[in-house]
Amino acid sequence: MIASGKGGTGKSTFTVNLGITLAYRGYNVVLVDLNLGLRTLDLYLGLENYALFDIGDILEERSSLDDVLIESHFCNRLKLLPGVQQSFYDKLTKDKFSSIIEDLKSKFDYVIIDCPPGIGPTIEVAMGASDAAIIVINANYISLRDADVVEDILSKSGIFNRACIMNRLSCDLTDIEAEVDIQTVSERLRSKIIGTIPDDCNIKAATNLGVPIVVKRDTYIANNYQKISDRIMEL
Ligand code: ADP
Ligand code: MG
Repeated sequence: MIASGKGGTGKSTFTVNLGITLAYRGYNVVLVDLNLGLRTLDLYLGLENYALFDIGDILEERSSLDDVLIESHFCNRLKLLPGVQQSFYDKLTKDKFSSIIEDLKSKFDYVIIDCPPGIGPTIEVAMGASDAAIIVINANYISLRDADVVEDILSKSGIFNRACIMNRLSCDLTDIEAEVDIQTVSERLRSKIIGTIPDDCNIKAATNLGVPIVVKRDTYIANNYQKISDRIMEL
């Protein structure tokens, strides 16, 4: 599961880029959009016109997984289970979600759950179905403080396989010591930092265009994601 304390740290962007990186490496990957009510991943993958059914249809037993999963344009090994796009959705239960994830685990090498921010009931449901968690933080104290809380909840739920990604680092701010540095984060969080990603307008533009940045191969960003995926495999 991909989690954060604060909203907007870059979880969904990280999810799609990690998913594509793993799929390009030959793994079968499925991304699960758990931003119920405010789904994201279909847009970030350029699949918004294809997401006719969603996880709600499975939870409410109207459709089967095979009907709902969509294949990415960028790699046929990458599939998306779209989230629900309606303002209020309360049909998610721990048991039903866990059984969907178990089913996906039997069919895919990696099941990546993109969570909403914070510590609400949806996170409880995600934790019940996850073997490992990646916390995406930004280099500021509020993000770090919120990540502390998430980390606590994860460890109380028995998720000991945890890692942290520092996203949107700004070289200018780090140079003048106006951002939280890696050393501070690693001393404070109990999760290992497995990657840093700079703040780069190309990453933002790519998500807006529905073409995740790592689709362009052999860039510094794609290589960075390769290394991050190596470390994730070791989790
Ligand atoms: P979350 O899922 O945590 O709410 P998103 O992944 O939707 O966050 O990202 C929020 C915004 O930040 C998006 O516009 C996205 O393009 C942008 N963003 C994420 N990571 C980066 C980055 N490393 N550099 C620049 N923009 C980024
Ligand atoms: Mg998101």
